[in-house]
Amino acid sequence: NREIHLAARPQGWPTTDNFRLVETPVPTPGPGQLVVRNQYMSVDPYMRGRMNDVKSYTPPFALDAPLDGGALGEVVASEADGFAPGDIVLHALGWREYALLDAKGARKVDPTLAPVTAYLSVLGMTGLTAYAGLLDVAGMKPGETVFVSAAAGAVGSLVGQIAKLKGAAHVVGSAGSAAKVERLTALGFDAAFDYHDGPVRQSLKTAAPDGIDVYFDNVGGDHLEAAISSMRPHGRAAICGMIAQYNDTEPAAAPRNLAMVIGKRLTLRGFLVNDHGGLRQTFVREMAGWLRDGSVSYDETIVDGIENAPEAFLGLLRGENLGKMLVRV
Ligand code: NDP
Repeated sequence: NREIHLAARPQGWPTTDNFRLVETPVPTPGPGQLVVRNQYMSVDPYMRGRMNDVKSYTPPFALDAPLDGGALGEVVASEADGFAPGDIVLHALGWREYALLDAKGARKVDPTLAPVTAYLSVLGMTGLTAYAGLLDVAGMKPGETVFVSAAAGAVGSLVGQIAKLKGAAHVVGSAGSAAKVERLTALGFDAAFDYHDGPVRQSLKTAAPDGIDVYFDNVGGDHLEAAISSMRPHGRAAICGMIAQYNDTEPAAAPRNLAMVIGKRLTLRGFLVNDHGGLRQTFVREMAGWLRDGSVSYDETIVDGIENAPEAFLGLLRGENLGKMLVRV
């Protein structure tokens, strides 16, 4: 069994030296447990925060111990009722080839309903984040103008498509390359820009000349500042993530225009997808329908080999992914 340990806590941008590949014996299940041969694992921006030794909404990763995170694989041994070898399960012990799990930490998925990777992306936590953030947290209504950052990423690309399907009048996305901007147009975004091409504030004004009603924030910093500037009165922002500052060693300077929140009566609302599990069934039903009739497309960037999982994680922070970044274990 090969697994990836946290060898040292990164200061600023992580490097491959922060990780170590370790060989351990393949585990055997005790009563109530199962062993899963992982097939795919997720790398996610929030994992960067867990590499710091600070208390947050999830505990920090321990040094010299395997990392963890969303994963999917096949049960190879089971001492738990309701699970048998061959079952495909979703669980939270990625970053290793073989996971030893208590049965309550595993959820069976149906591999005949969708490609299995979809359970880690469009039909999983990623999709629910987009759906709950846009509809529940920001309360998007038909006819509104929506702006989403990191729009070619896993969450962002779904936010834009869901907004269109729910009747948004104008959907704008920002992303980090010309190829990503082109992809956003193909996905049905009304306007898109590369945030390297000029000040975000200016690019957003050009893309949404009449202002925006809803901002889905994945980036923070100058993107959030630009959104506050472009918000119409009573605009709402769902604050999902601030990836632009996850590797900062000093607090970010922007947004400098927070006082506008008062005059425009804006709502900036942070959220965690874990609090929105109540929407899961509605979300899965609706998203499965959109996938079936082709109204939602999703991208995945798949890196091969557990030994390359750290590189996949670093690539995610650098923006090398289109859609969901996954590792084929
Ligand atoms: P993505 O697939 O969007 O990947 C991250 C993307 O962020 C990269 O592809 C890159 O794209 C972009 N990025 C990186 N650095 C910067 C920067 N400095 N400025 C602008 N863009 C940058 O990841 P996810 O879809 O998994 O996550 C998106 C966001 O949602 C993250 O902030 C994450 O933390 C958050 N999140 C929050 C959840 C919650 O419960 N609140 C749950 C899940 C995710 P590009 O090439 O465009 O720069």
